[in-house]
Amino acid sequence: MLNRQGRETAPGAIETGEIETFTGNRGLALEEPLIFEIGDSERTGVDLLAPPKVASRLGGLEREPIGLPGLSEPEAVRHYTRLSRQNFAIDMGLFPLGSCTMKHNPRLNEKMARLPGFSDIHPLQPVDSVQGALELIDSLAHWLKTLTGMPEVAMSPKAGAHGELCGMLAIRAAHEARGEARKVVLVPESAHGTNPATAAFCGYEVENIPATPAGRVDLAALKARLGADVAAVMITNPNTCGLFEPDMIAISEATHAAGAYVYCDGANFNAIVGRVRPGDLGVDAMHINLHKTFSTPHGGGGPGAGPVVFSAALAPFAPLPFVRHTGTHFELVEEEQAHGRGDAHARSFGRMVAFHGQMGMFVRALSYIMSHGADGLRQVAEDAVLNANYVLRSLDDVMTAPFGTSGPCMHEALFDDHFLEGTGVTTIDIAKALIDEGYHPMTMYFPLVVHGAMLIEPTETESKATLDQFIATLRHLVARAKAGEVEHFKAAPHLAPRRRLDETLAARKPVLSWVPESIAAE
Ligand SMILES: *Cc1c(COP(=O)(O)O)cnc(C)c1O
Repeated sequence: MLNRQGRETAPGAIETGEIETFTGNRGLALEEPLIFEIGDSERTGVDLLAPPKVASRLGGLEREPIGLPGLSEPEAVRHYTRLSRQNFAIDMGLFPLGSCTMKHNPRLNEKMARLPGFSDIHPLQPVDSVQGALELIDSLAHWLKTLTGMPEVAMSPKAGAHGELCGMLAIRAAHEARGEARKVVLVPESAHGTNPATAAFCGYEVENIPATPAGRVDLAALKARLGADVAAVMITNPNTCGLFEPDMIAISEATHAAGAYVYCDGANFNAIVGRVRPGDLGVDAMHINLHKTFSTPHGGGGPGAGPVVFSAALAPFAPLPFVRHTGTHFELVEEEQAHGRGDAHARSFGRMVAFHGQMGMFVRALSYIMSHGADGLRQVAEDAVLNANYVLRSLDDVMTAPFGTSGPCMHEALFDDHFLEGTGVTTIDIAKALIDEGYHPMTMYFPLVVHGAMLIEPTETESKATLDQFIATLRHLVARAKAGEVEHFKAAPHLAPRRRLDETLAARKPVLSWVPESIAAE
């Protein structure tokens, strides 16, 4: 059925026999066309006189009209506000996306980040006019080094994956400095896709290390594969099954004995911050997702920040720039040779970004750290682990937890799809049904080591009441699946503005540009 805008109304409304509206809106949940469909290039939102005719001096290089739609300010504001309401957000409800640590972003952090001395400065300002900002970067660096027990940190990488690249480039530089051209990087089966992608991007061959039946790295298999061709082992701890790697020290010792380095994917640092220092486990490089552990906003393509801590062995190869405290003021060291610590930074592998990193995220992360203090950060980890175990134990009688018998989990609870056998309902159907219930789905089909994975990370910021309601919702959905309501699940989400999308097609053939109907018709 088409509404006044010539678009199909939210199909759920029709199927569920709900009232058809004249506008196509569903109460205050508003339908929204593309901006090109609302405005057009013939309209304008402002009253400006037509410019006087002048002779062109561009020699035929004038830009063609590009067809931007003209809208008034209220029309433009409403368009984007309506779109924003179709987006689920951490400020709307539980966002149990495993491995992503979607936690509340405290408003205090936002207030600090908006202070003009942090938000209105320019990276090319003279350093004596930005001493406070450099001190903030230096203080955050100090906290990150202290919390990880590592002597050096590179602040500039702008995301977790970017931090992985930073760490692996330092590892490659360290091998090159020894005159070694090692070719292989070992990555456990359960790793996040960015790990093998990073290693391959750096020119390494990636080899998988299998997992044990208990979901941990198979130490014997790792040891058997280590050799003179292995440059590094990339390990996530706690791993992406939400489990601590108890053999971490043995893994590091074996790796070092083979002349290789240990890269740790620190995306799951939230589970151990204040309790375990990765430096004590023999890690050589690790990125920290400030946008996960330290609560800075993420999702929707927003800025992240992925500082990388380094062991003494890799510190000389860390990228520039870095902030140095001279005792009286803060300096920005931007050149390899000119000011290095001794000749230490003469061996820096170079630069990763134009300037210093995500300043706004540094302010938010340091605000989070300082408002918690050392004991508060420790409690972050403890409560995150407690909440995840509460979810695991409240659901493992109706859902199947593949590693549930091997003891408590860390910050996230992993389920597989064995409990759905014979129901016709699959992992993705459960996820879609959760949308109808007002929840962002959990992480689905990752990690790959279990069948039909559902990875739930509640984080420490959720109350027991919120978790109880989420648990009750999942138990209700499982009961419906087992009661044979497969049709309900296959058609979910019923209440979202859009129903089942062809996600494979969207990923393989994304439509990234809008073509006016007049041209499309030709
Ligand atoms: C989030 C995540 C990454 C990548 O971090 P980005 O900031 O998204 O680039 C890498 N590994 C793991 C385990 C993660 O959860």
